[in-house]
Amino acid sequence: MEKKPNEPSAKARPKRVLVTGGAGFLGSHLVERLLHAGHDVICIDNFISGSKKNIAHLMAHPRLEVIEQDIISPVYVEAEEIYNFACPASPVHYQQNPIRTIKTCVIGMLNMLGLTKRNHAKLIQASTSEVYGDPEVVPQDESYRGNVSVSSVRACYDEGKRCAETLCEEYRREHNLDIRIARIFNTYGPRMQIDDGRVVSNFIVQALRNEPITVYGEGTQTRSFCFVDDLIQGVTTMMAGPSDLITPINLGSEEEITMMDLARRVLLLTGSRSKIEHRPLPEDDPKRRRPDLTRARSFLGWGPRTKLNDGLLKTISWFDDLLSRQEESLTL
Ligand code: NAD
Ligand code: UDP
Ligand code: UDP
Repeated sequence: MEKKPNEPSAKARPKRVLVTGGAGFLGSHLVERLLHAGHDVICIDNFISGSKKNIAHLMAHPRLEVIEQDIISPVYVEAEEIYNFACPASPVHYQQNPIRTIKTCVIGMLNMLGLTKRNHAKLIQASTSEVYGDPEVVPQDESYRGNVSVSSVRACYDEGKRCAETLCEEYRREHNLDIRIARIFNTYGPRMQIDDGRVVSNFIVQALRNEPITVYGEGTQTRSFCFVDDLIQGVTTMMAGPSDLITPINLGSEEEITMMDLARRVLLLTGSRSKIEHRPLPEDDPKRRRPDLTRARSFLGWGPRTKLNDGLLKTISWFDDLLSRQEESLTL
């Protein structure tokens, strides 16, 4: 198989890598990729929005250690590389306990930075396009300062992640640490939870069950969806990048689509009989979101490869299997 540029390979020196949030949607794919590349992986998760099922197939792996812990409490492990992915990412989940979300973003980040400092390690922070809030410029490049509400129901996540970035910058400046910030845009794929609440999983599960597709508002708001394999490739490439790498760097897809078009596309690809129904638009829902990937392409040589249709088909097939297995277990 062709080796992608900068991808950690089995030939690279195996490292001891910590993934926080390793039982989540993105974290579990990352853990799998790192094990496959020959690294020793420690996964820390409190299973608040992730699931043991996501890593069940890896549990017997001799190079994986899973620790059930909240990163709001200090974490003492030894690691050379750290991916800080712990934090609920679905608006439904992060708004369930907003104060806990802030603590995870801020106190959890502080602990991870303390850990990075003590270990003289390298850290990637999973930041988010939400630091741009409801953007007034499209596409968003890394110099855009954002349009974020300090008090809306999304603020616990948006402002939490912004503060986490500020902590990263201060630790980098004061302690000369190798800290990298990935601003991740909407990512989808297998292992999203059925009840995750994010749009791709909602639409696919609704379509497969022939239930109404719930479009919030008019459905004219846009997002740009990146397939999970591409995103994981982006973050591992960022970790392998040179020591003078400038971040933050946006990682995502430029294929912008309205939620109405996404609903129609999912209906077409699933052959579903579902009808589209409109529901109230959540407070402060960003109207448009699309990354400028100039930095990712020029600094990392990275860009997404999977077309939305192809990624959706893979995700539909994964959810179809999951729902069939659930139905089978109910009829047994
Ligand atoms: P997810 O909710 O599926 O995974 C998050 C994981 O972190 C879960 O396993 C959860 O149990 C764990 N976790 C949460 N709080 C924790 C805590 N205090 N201590 C220990 N573990 C904790 O979300 P995801 O989509 O996999 O997102 C992973 C990371 O990527 C998050 O930091 C998120 O902000 C960021 N991100 C994701 C997206 C996306 O589209 N998926 C976009 C931008 C940023
Ligand atoms: N910390 C941690 N693991 C470590 C080292 C530190 O969780 O291996 C925590 C520590 O409890 C502290 C935070 O990280 O709350 C920041 O640590 P730092 O050493 O930067 O600050 P200090 O302890 O001096 O306040
Ligand atoms: N959305 C929708 N129907 C759903 C879930 C979400 O129309 O069942 C919309 C939501 O209002 C937002 C977009 O889809 O405009 C993306 O929502 P998601 O929660 O996936 O991510 P985020 O808002 O954090 O980008």
